[in-house]
Amino acid sequence: MVATHNHRVKPVTLNFSDQLSEGIFLFGFERDFDFRAGQVIGIALQEEGPRRLYSICSGPQDPEIRILYNVIEEGYLTPRLSDLEAGDTIWITEPRGEFTGTHDPAVWIATGTGIAPFYSMLRSGLADQKVLIHGNRYLEQFHFYDEFSSVLGNNYIRCCSAEEDDQVFHGRVTGYLGLEPSLNPRLKYYICGSAEMVVDTRDLLIEKGIPFDHIISEIYF
Ligand SMILES: Cc1cc2nc3c(=O)[nH]c(=O)nc-3n(C[C@H](O)[C@H](O)[C@H](O)COP(=O)(O)OP(=O)(O)OC[C@H]3O[C@@H](n4cnc5c(N)ncnc54)[C@H](O)[C@@H]3O)c2cc1C
Repeated sequence: MVATHNHRVKPVTLNFSDQLSEGIFLFGFERDFDFRAGQVIGIALQEEGPRRLYSICSGPQDPEIRILYNVIEEGYLTPRLSDLEAGDTIWITEPRGEFTGTHDPAVWIATGTGIAPFYSMLRSGLADQKVLIHGNRYLEQFHFYDEFSSVLGNNYIRCCSAEEDDQVFHGRVTGYLGLEPSLNPRLKYYICGSAEMVVDTRDLLIEKGIPFDHIISEIYF
């Protein structure tokens, strides 16, 4: 049998756990391991408990590991995570994953908490030559607006499907991309979000002439 370290878990103590907006939470604990921006960790409430994957939503040099998640009402883990407070213990796996950033020019496309790996990449200085297209249902959900826009300026494009604002595209990320007259096929396109959003966006990019090997995706399922 091949040995794997992926399933080793260890306890960590939360430094904080905050609700950022309706159903969206962020918690953090001290970082005592290295990872690459864009990687994920497994999280459980007990050593042997059901485990789910989460993108690390902080930079590899930051003192804390932070996790951004939305509560799935009918889900197992997220309603329970939302009851946690500073001082509580969770169990984590080692970081893993290949959805990692580079300095090459690219377009980052995220919906909801799918912004987390791109925030990690931003924090590690990988936002150069990037365009970020971020979709949310409500305006209050663009939690990292200040940091992204101070680095990306007009290359941070917010798409809001349920509310309107002068500065924000009204519609989904696919609506925004669909209106672009042409997309640069030499760029890499990174997509992160729900399965439905990733598949719809991938299909649209291919339709618009982006080679499939320039499309890199992380599905939150
Ligand atoms: C590589 C990877 C990285 C991930 N990173 C994050 C992250 O950074 N933040 C985050 O919030 N989630 C992330 N997820 C999703 C996360 O692992 C869980 O699936 C999610 O938090 C639901 O867990 P749960 O135990 O509450 O619900 P479960 O009991 O697992 O699921 C209940 C139902 O909800 C569905 N579901 C799962 N996720 C969603 C969703 N986002 N919206 C609607 N329905 C959903 C499931 O398919 C299932 O049918 C990631 C998933 C993967 C595979």
